[in-house]
Amino acid sequence: MSFLDSLSGGPQTQGPERTTCSRKACRNTAGWQLLWNNPKIHTPDRRKIWVACDEHVDWLQDYLQLRGLWKETLPLKHEEG
Ligand SMILES: [Zn+2]
Repeated sequence: MSFLDSLSGGPQTQGPERTTCSRKACRNTAGWQLLWNNPKIHTPDRRKIWVACDEHVDWLQDYLQLRGLWKETLPLKHEEG
């Protein structure tokens, strides 16, 4: 096992080029980011980010909204070049 192997993308790589949906067991590439904040444990300007594919963005947004944690849903931009 080499250091380079671990850099070039094993399972669960969270690089900017390929971001996998945060939903458990989902392996789709995420196209959305959900910004949230838990006022009980985070300062108000802190943002936690979950990423989601098209299929699960609604599910995750509902989940956060139900708990009063949701702030924003934004497209996840994939930089090209
Ligand atoms: Zn998904």
